[in-house]
Amino acid sequence: MRSYKIGVIKGDGIGPEIVDEAIKVLDAVSVAQGFNLKYDEFLLGGAAIDETGVPLPEETIQGVKKCDAVLFGAIGGPKWDNLERHLRPETGLLGLRKEMGTFANLRPAMVYDELVNASSLKPSVIQGVDIMVVRELTGGIYFGQPRELHEDKAFNTMVYTKEEVERIARVAFDIAMKRDKRVCSVDKANVLEVSQFWREIVEEIAKEYPEVELSHMYVDNAAMQLIRDPKQFDVILTGNIFGDILSDAASMLSGSIGLLPSASTGKGVGLYEPIHGSAPDIAGQGIANPLATISSASMMLRYALGEEEAADKIDNAIKKALAEGYRTGDLADYDAKEIVTCSEMGDIVADYASR
Ligand code: NAD
Repeated sequence: MRSYKIGVIKGDGIGPEIVDEAIKVLDAVSVAQGFNLKYDEFLLGGAAIDETGVPLPEETIQGVKKCDAVLFGAIGGPKWDNLERHLRPETGLLGLRKEMGTFANLRPAMVYDELVNASSLKPSVIQGVDIMVVRELTGGIYFGQPRELHEDKAFNTMVYTKEEVERIARVAFDIAMKRDKRVCSVDKANVLEVSQFWREIVEEIAKEYPEVELSHMYVDNAAMQLIRDPKQFDVILTGNIFGDILSDAASMLSGSIGLLPSASTGKGVGLYEPIHGSAPDIAGQGIANPLATISSASMMLRYALGEEEAADKIDNAIKKALAEGYRTGDLADYDAKEIVTCSEMGDIVADYASR
């Protein structure tokens, strides 16, 4: 029997509630599909601070590296907000991503038909949107040297090496092969040499994927096109700073933060997590929406374990739950037939996914 080891980091706030529901669904679908999942739990963020005094214990760093993939909830909360920066929960998460060498951030932005009214854009513009933003995560201007801050001037450096562009481009093309086979590479090649370089390398990598259609777009135009006609995009490939901005804009097309998953992948083990935070305002009430985390578990099956049928089952189960009118409180205003708790939503999706 196929068997996988999953690292589980529940984190803080609603983290434990939503991760428990994702595991419920993973258990149901793995039984149905005939593979085995073993879970190993690790501490991160506030929970780790409370237990060990640091936000990223060595045991977590070493432990996750031995897993096939890591499912993560969220970290942070007011309890730890006044700690020094190096001791804060967020520092633990950034440190973990660095340790795991995750250079690619995958952020799907899809709109469920049943929730077209939840978006701030017109239903005709967003119905059927299904975009994957592939953002380079460990290079570009956020990390480039030199960087200096003086009294009379300050500067950062946007730098990309050939290897960095090649590997992120391959991630985007590989994903496009599993989707609609279209990649739009977003840059600012009309102004920046580094973007011109990026574009040339992406063109080179595209030759390895003759079935994938490659286009290029300037980032200012891409921002506009995302709002004007988001359906034109399949995979958006872009650098760190442009991807940071565009993926946030794209994610809001769906209208609800509780629905969208993400993945950070790279050289080794990938981290799969919802895009939202630990929602301390609703933690412990059993009303959080677990769908973003369940959807992250589906991405984990698809991209880390190659269990595509199981991933499809989860995606379809989420759609069915929404089509049947089940909503957690955050989506109560959008065609709800029945308001359910976090745990009830997990039960419903697990049931559909196991069929
Ligand atoms: P947040 O995403 O936690 O919450 C924003 C709003 O969305 C809140 O009203 C919350 O109740 C709601 N919300 C979020 N997820 C939801 C869900 N699944 N179901 C229903 N409603 C949901 O952002 P924030 O309030 O800015 O941050 C809270 C804490 O989370 C902070 O400590 C922040 O640093 C941390 N954070 C962590 C991550 C992460 O772990 N990756 C990401 C962002 C923020």
